[in-house]
Amino acid sequence: MKVTEHISRAKKTLFSFEILPPLKGAGIQTIYHTLDPLMEFKPPFINVTYHRSEFIFRKTADGNFEKKIVRKRPGTAGLSTAIMTKYGVDAVPHLICGGFSIDETEDLLIELDFLGINNVLLLRGDKMKSEEVFTPQADGHKNALDLVKQTVRMNKGIYLEEELNNAMPTDFCIGVAGYPEKHYEAKDMNSDIQNLKEKIDAGAHYIVTQMFFNNKKYFEFVAACRAAGITVPIIPGLKPLTNKKQITNLPKIFFIDFPAELLQQFDLCKTDDDFRQVGINWSIQQCKELIQAQVPVLHFYTMSNSSSVVQVVSQLD
Ligand code: FAD
Repeated sequence: MKVTEHISRAKKTLFSFEILPPLKGAGIQTIYHTLDPLMEFKPPFINVTYHRSEFIFRKTADGNFEKKIVRKRPGTAGLSTAIMTKYGVDAVPHLICGGFSIDETEDLLIELDFLGINNVLLLRGDKMKSEEVFTPQADGHKNALDLVKQTVRMNKGIYLEEELNNAMPTDFCIGVAGYPEKHYEAKDMNSDIQNLKEKIDAGAHYIVTQMFFNNKKYFEFVAACRAAGITVPIIPGLKPLTNKKQITNLPKIFFIDFPAELLQQFDLCKTDDDFRQVGINWSIQQCKELIQAQVPVLHFYTMSNSSSVVQVVSQLD
């Protein structure tokens, strides 16, 4: 079933979870260990992230360095199918522009369609670590909007070879990303929301937000989206904080801020356990307020560690 169907049939706020494919060689059981404890919360769908290849430099026997391209977390499509089979829930694989030509994107969408997957979250993807700015693949999409447009065309039976006769339309329900604290490259919130609106106007069906720790920012973002004419569901993205390193790492990776009150509470923590408890309590309060506001879904970034998410969700009705 499509994410939007799950939302429209639900009588209360749903819970969904996002996982990363395992590091190459780690095996699928590591993912089942993450997901097993989450199943009691009856997620209607599980998101599976996509990780592009990165360049690395390896020392060779003669002491020189060779440049190699390595994908550390392959398997998004296969893992999505495995999750659907094992747990009987829907899977939402993420697709990105980076590293894909438009032909490769079409092939992947066909593969997902054949696998019975009809939900996708479409993203541009970040720049490679070795790049200054995001650089599209030759003959690839430069932003998520173009990827949405390609998928919408396939939903109408229009493939890249336009002379294909009676091509079978796909039927993807399309999610896109939104940023309550603005995407880091956008010049201001207004233009970011206009760009988001273009993705919706092109045919995307719902939005999932970047993680945030201050609900006010989510509520303001939703109000600004509504004022701009965006009417689709806006699913809040959440992450319970569990260790001190996240206080410095997450803002650098995701361009988000922590509220002063949360930082003050962390300042008072003496042990790692104290810290974890503050992070979990904060997340529970965030979730309760969001449920009160009747958000359609609470979407948790598990980052492949579900124990804190279990602690949070088990405290929610
Ligand atoms: P876009 O919508 O293309 O926007 C990128 C930037 O370009 C924004 O600043 C936007 O305002 C601007 N822009 C867009 N259109 C225009 C235009 N027409 N003119 C001028 N500016 C424009 N990354 C991964 O690699 N794999 C994942 O699995 C993954 N999952 C994610 C899941 C969620 C819920 C979120 C929020 C992010 C995820 N990301 C993932 C990260 C995402 O790829 C990055 O945040 C990326 O930098 C932007 O992706 P986007 O789809 O929002 O890009």
